[in-house]
Amino acid sequence: LVVRAADKFRQAGIDMRTGHHVEHIDAAGRAVIGSGPEGQPFQMAYDRLLIATGASPIMPQQPGFDLPGVVAVKTMEDGRAIKSRLQHNAVKKTLILGMGYIAMEMSEALRARDIEVVMAKPRAEVLPWLDPELSDDVRRELNDHMVELYTGFAVDRIESAGDRLKAVAANGRGLEADMVIVAIGVRPNSGLAMKVGLDLGPAQSIAVDRRMCTSDQFIYAAGDCADAYHVVTGKKAWIPLALRANRAGWAVADHLCGKPVSVQGVAGTGVFRVFDLEVARTGLIAAEARAAGFEPATVTVSARSRAHAHPGASQIKVHLIGDKRSGRLLGAQMVGREGAALRINAAAVALHAGMTVEQFSQSDLAYAPPFGPTWDPLLVAANQLLKAL
Ligand SMILES: Cc1cc2nc3c(=O)[nH]c(=O)nc-3n(C[C@H](O)[C@H](O)[C@H](O)COP(=O)(O)OP(=O)(O)OC[C@H]3O[C@@H](n4cnc5c(N)ncnc54)[C@H](O)[C@@H]3O)c2cc1C
Repeated sequence: LVVRAADKFRQAGIDMRTGHHVEHIDAAGRAVIGSGPEGQPFQMAYDRLLIATGASPIMPQQPGFDLPGVVAVKTMEDGRAIKSRLQHNAVKKTLILGMGYIAMEMSEALRARDIEVVMAKPRAEVLPWLDPELSDDVRRELNDHMVELYTGFAVDRIESAGDRLKAVAANGRGLEADMVIVAIGVRPNSGLAMKVGLDLGPAQSIAVDRRMCTSDQFIYAAGDCADAYHVVTGKKAWIPLALRANRAGWAVADHLCGKPVSVQGVAGTGVFRVFDLEVARTGLIAAEARAAGFEPATVTVSARSRAHAHPGASQIKVHLIGDKRSGRLLGAQMVGREGAALRINAAAVALHAGMTVEQFSQSDLAYAPPFGPTWDPLLVAANQLLKAL
């Protein structure tokens, strides 16, 4: 997971100070103020400042979330601490709060170690952003791997129960486990920007323009702490994922080195694997489309992952969303055992290009028996969506 060690930067002549925590920005004096590894104060002047402080896991303020054994997964240290707990504390059962992609990935990692896994969340749907038919496949996959799911379970507090922990809902119902992983989402680390009065965007992320410049012309922001333009709506969105964070960092560097920069934005493309299932999405879901002023039509189709005569095929479910008024493609979702994750990229590019469903249905997508039917599942779905539009 370590892409580049700190010393690589130092060898390249960059004054990289790990263990330094910035606490304030003095925007008028153009300096940052904070504390170093031993707690010693430091101050550093800047001509331009880039805030790239990322996001932090949400930790509820309810009682018991600070008990030992209640953990979140963000940093390498979090991962090491969880591994160490598994090795030294005889963890037989883990409760995961949340059912997003980090929660799903953790459930798979824990089941691989033969640890019992229970997942709980307040809402009724496992993945509310996924079409119910596709979300049911995810639920089935979790059940098939003996992950117990408790939807509609809102944790009110966590208590010690002998050697174990007990998450208690408002109605008094309890779930016991040896470890509780809190994976209920993240929020942008925009506190520094807020204190200095920079404009904020969705979810209190730092508002930036297409060059990543904030409302202070000397301060830039990039990555999970900042917002972005959504390529489908043209409006601001906060979607904390790695590619767009990385791209935003490069864009700031290019811009400051004098290269013209205008970052298109995000389509909200995301993929993850849960056990043997690939789950993928790009663009808007129907509810988001409606909220953005579109008139969405949707279809869900099931197609083979390989050609008819090719052995070993499984089903890919494709859900497509289009706009009745403009005919534009608005979003796509896919779930399948093979060929779903990377296939979503074709739909993502179509969204960047602002294609209509008709144009997308005419795309010359690849065919060979091991990879799909003659008509790619995306094209089958696009043809069906055309009828619905
Ligand atoms: C378990 C997990 C799995 C993930 N999997 C995926 C995936 O499969 N695909 C995907 O696209 N994304 C994934 N992500 C999200 C991805 O990691 C983030 O989008 C990406 O790391 C954001 O990069 P960033 O540079 O903005 O922030 P970060 O990587 O969070 O870096 C922020 C840095 O700022 C530092 N910092 C914060 N505050 C201060 C301060 N006050 N002073 C000084 N330094 C500060 C932090 O210490 C940190 O080093 C995953 C995240 C997690 C936690």
